[in-house]
Amino acid sequence: MAQRIGFLGLGIMGTAMSGNCLRAGFDVMVWNRSPGPAARLAAEGATVAKTPAEAAAHGDVTIVMLTGPEACEAVLFGPDGAAASLGPGKTLVNMSTISPAYARQAAACVRETGAEYVDAPVSGSKKPAEDATLVILAGGREEAIAAVEPVLLAMGKKVARCGEAGMGSTMKVTVNVLLGIMAEGLAETVRLGESLGLSRQALLDVVMAGPMANDLFRLKDPMFRVDDYPAQFPAKHMAKDLTFAVEAARDAGANIPVLSVLAPLYHTLVDTGLGDADFAAVIKALG
Ligand code: NAP
Repeated sequence: MAQRIGFLGLGIMGTAMSGNCLRAGFDVMVWNRSPGPAARLAAEGATVAKTPAEAAAHGDVTIVMLTGPEACEAVLFGPDGAAASLGPGKTLVNMSTISPAYARQAAACVRETGAEYVDAPVSGSKKPAEDATLVILAGGREEAIAAVEPVLLAMGKKVARCGEAGMGSTMKVTVNVLLGIMAEGLAETVRLGESLGLSRQALLDVVMAGPMANDLFRLKDPMFRVDDYPAQFPAKHMAKDLTFAVEAARDAGANIPVLSVLAPLYHTLVDTGLGDADFAAVIKALG
């Protein structure tokens, strides 16, 4: 079992996930672009790298949890990037939500060093990251996924095997389409009801009492009732992920009548300063 981890990216998710690796007994070296989060992990027992390359030199497994493709490109392949320290016997696990096309490109570049590449984006947000109950959507060679599974299970409750490298990212962006549609569906229903003279509270009472109630609506219902949207999953990430889904769908020639209007709606939130609000704030994009 791999014991040493280099962990790159200590945002909302990476901080919680690297903390769980430490608590599971792994020897973790962390790196983050801005220093504050790494200092907090050091207090929990992590060592702190000065560069991504130093963290990747430390790790049998190097984990990446960054915003998206641009950040991954800089941290993996830029100056002092992790790729310089990768090679045979090492594995790069990219848990960031990135486009399937970029995942395939990154996998090819990492494999040129002789290292394995596993793409492993996650389903679940801050609370599951803290509780180590994420669902990890893994793509890569079967043996490579099996070798890092103990590390993945320090951060999540399930590893779903999706196929080759890139298919984990494909699963992630595809499933997020349903998430985006469901939140927009509830938001649009609320807006329509109000336009037709219904009370928001009464309408939500009816939705939540019937067969349409579900775990997602149970999470968002309190937000709609008070019209306040503290982030569980920020709208800026939903907008990004839906753009990746649109790109993948276009590459495949898939029919996406709802997705093609949905992605711009979530981007409207980012453009109007609501990117850090929860994605249920999509109701604000409906006027
Ligand atoms: P976040 O809090 O915004 O953190 C982003 C991280 O990326 C930070 O460590 C940031 O460094 C780093 N970063 C951004 N641009 C960079 C660059 N050019 N060079 C180096 N580092 C850079 O994001 P998060 O919520 O942890 O999400 C991380 C990933 O998980 C995203 O792909 C997101 O879509 C996905 N995800 C998030 C959630 C969620 O609920 N938050 C759920 C599932 C999946 P600094 O600290 O220096 O800014």
